[in-house]
Amino acid sequence: MQCLLCPSEGDFGPPVAKPSARVSSSQLLCSAAASSPISRRTIDCPQPIIVLSASLTSTPNKSAKNCSTSCLLQYPAVSATMAKRIAAVLIDLSGTIHIEDAIIPGAIEALKRLRATQVKIKFVTNTTKESKHVLHERLKRIGFSIDSEEIFTSLTAARQLIDQRNLRPLMLIADAAKEDFSGVCYENENSVLVGLAPEHFNYERLTTAFRLLLDGAPLIAIHKARYYKRGDGLALGPGAFVSGLEYSSGCKAEVVGKPEAAFFHSALQDLGCTPAQAVMIGDDVQDDVCGAMKAGLAGILVKTGKYRPGDESHAELSPSHVAEDFPQAVDFIINNLLQS
Ligand SMILES: [Mg+2]
Repeated sequence: MQCLLCPSEGDFGPPVAKPSARVSSSQLLCSAAASSPISRRTIDCPQPIIVLSASLTSTPNKSAKNCSTSCLLQYPAVSATMAKRIAAVLIDLSGTIHIEDAIIPGAIEALKRLRATQVKIKFVTNTTKESKHVLHERLKRIGFSIDSEEIFTSLTAARQLIDQRNLRPLMLIADAAKEDFSGVCYENENSVLVGLAPEHFNYERLTTAFRLLLDGAPLIAIHKARYYKRGDGLALGPGAFVSGLEYSSGCKAEVVGKPEAAFFHSALQDLGCTPAQAVMIGDDVQDDVCGAMKAGLAGILVKTGKYRPGDESHAELSPSHVAEDFPQAVDFIINNLLQS
């Protein structure tokens, strides 16, 4: 067991906590760290924290909100517990390695460094404003070396669901994304599919969807992002419109993209890895990081794209690690999580 605040091992006064046990924060400090001012604040923290020394470590931030900020200083311990087990990295796209046609500085070189480690890589995205083919072409055009098979999109997951249930959806998705739904029947609609579709989010179209929902049609949300990062700033995501339809119709949407656990598990299935062997990097603390952590992966938050200061403090779970950007996240993985 490792000290919360330093690399020391052992030398703990209280009994060593069992993996997954709920213990007091003072049980996580070696005797040296326990005497430091900052750790005294940790010791004084009135809230228990959860330690999963055999798997993931996370702090429910609902507890942490009532504590001093030093409660969140468990990141180094999280790093230690994640070490030796990472075999796959899931990477968000928009806001993490690019924003529209702009590359996050250093992202291309960082991806090359990550590929050189032989770790398995999958790009997982909720992007619904363009098809997987168009997205792949964009990534290649701006300089990324990525195979189409490496991209797992929520559009693909939605298409699978439509086919499985023989749905004939009213499509509130961008025209540029409809390529991924070729062959789907749109006549006599029996469901509503919502993605990011600025050109369809108007009163009459939403009212048509609302009436279908009142008649019992299922509401399928490709994702429920509250907002996303556009070249000119933050912009409304489909979540605002999905929630509006839920509110007015009284129905509950079925979400197929991030942060649903099934989405992360499907992406990992292609790589032959378990959630415990994987880490997710993303700019959305809720959909990327918390979603992945709830699905059993580790989660690294990057401070680019839609990130806003304090996101990590207000989220449901504390990220496993917070990095300035994608290159720093990659360096953290290479230096801490790939050791044998
Ligand atoms: Mg993103």
